[in-house]
Amino acid sequence: MSDQVKFLLNEDDIPKDWYNIVADLPEPPAPVLHPGTGNAIGPDDLAPLFPMASIMQEVSAERTIEIPTPVREIYRQWRPSPLYRARRLEKALDTPARIYYKYEGVSPTGSHKPNTAIAQAFFCKEEGVKRIATETGAGQWGSSLALAGSMFGLEIEVFMVRVSYDQKPYRRAFMETFGATCHASPSTLTESGRKILADNPNSTGSLGIAISEAVETAAQRDDTKYSLGSVLNHVLLHQTVVGQEAMRQMELAADYPDIVVGCTGGGSNFAGLSFPFIGAKLRGEQDVKIVAVEPANCPTLTKGKYAYDFGDTGNLTPLVKMHTLGSAFLPPASHAGGLRYHGMAPLVSQLVNLGEINPTAYSQTDCFDAGITFARAEGIVPAPEANHAVKGAIVEALRCKEEGASRAILFNLCGHGYFDMQAYTDYNSGKLEDYAYDESEVAMALAGLPSIS
Ligand SMILES: *Cc1c(COP(=O)(O)O)cnc(C)c1O
Repeated sequence: MSDQVKFLLNEDDIPKDWYNIVADLPEPPAPVLHPGTGNAIGPDDLAPLFPMASIMQEVSAERTIEIPTPVREIYRQWRPSPLYRARRLEKALDTPARIYYKYEGVSPTGSHKPNTAIAQAFFCKEEGVKRIATETGAGQWGSSLALAGSMFGLEIEVFMVRVSYDQKPYRRAFMETFGATCHASPSTLTESGRKILADNPNSTGSLGIAISEAVETAAQRDDTKYSLGSVLNHVLLHQTVVGQEAMRQMELAADYPDIVVGCTGGGSNFAGLSFPFIGAKLRGEQDVKIVAVEPANCPTLTKGKYAYDFGDTGNLTPLVKMHTLGSAFLPPASHAGGLRYHGMAPLVSQLVNLGEINPTAYSQTDCFDAGITFARAEGIVPAPEANHAVKGAIVEALRCKEEGASRAILFNLCGHGYFDMQAYTDYNSGKLEDYAYDESEVAMALAGLPSIS
């Protein structure tokens, strides 16, 4: 085994294809349903919202889908991203485990999100779209789509969850610098937003509400499409460049992960790293344990129900089968804004249901403790969301120590935290708190799930 710390690939090694795990699933994904009729929807039903190229990827069962050259050309700016062996963290934990992390914070917006933003904007541009409306939680997705919009000359309109809009003013400045427009959500600009504000003028918003606002905006104009930064099959597909590169880099390290860890909000960075490894396992090539880490105050996979639900609070989206806390559930405010979503990617949910993924949940303060340990050892301040993956990796590394087992652990450091310093200010001054979610609110939201026979 090499002493190297950093495993780098060349630009030529940027994957030529995205990997579609649907080809390796033991059974096809559950159909997406029309909320009115309960019938399976087809590509045409989605055409008002998405470009056809994205829709065809959404329903594809092909194992590989070629990455268009203009998309790869832009990927070259920061891809392949580095993979590190966390030797100083291993020492700090005094663990026999070998800890590796794939670092997506090297992208222009500091997270994995541009991997799909660039692709989605490209497909919109190809099909003559002028504007894209979207939502954003912590601002990572809005920034990434704003970046992509500036590269392809598209107007970007972002509905940003109110609590993050207030907590993270620099994210908004970042989006506006790329020429995007950013509104706090719920806003008075849409029917969905006005309805929420009428019930609760102080609403801190949620991804579910912001999605309703963006979908409504896109549905109103012919020149406007909607874009989602997570959850959907085509978004997870675009992120698989991460795991494919990591596989090559683990080869350079002459190692293979026994355990792969990622944090899950809607599931895209987690899927991006883990799906190529899960695919190898499903094809019987190589065993691996997969760990998904979610926040204890928005425990979609560990406490939610696997059922058909809406993707948004205003119930404008089709019904998808996923783990959900109920589309009416408002997750408590936390700094990991990107993980505050009531649902989960249907493909991740299906794999959890099949027992291929082990979901876990940790509190915000436990995750920040882990993030600080990581930062002091490795010199990178993780995004609050990424702290959940760090926590999951550290738990596995300490288990190795307890069991005297030397396993290889690979996790996704999906973004840096340099726009999230308020969270670290709170942590450092002892003010970071854990807000429990309201169990009765979840029970109510789950009781309100659409009934599908
Ligand atoms: C958006 C975001 C997440 C959550 O989204 P996923 O689709 O679950 O990856 C996690 N981490 C970072 C850094 C993000 O920007």
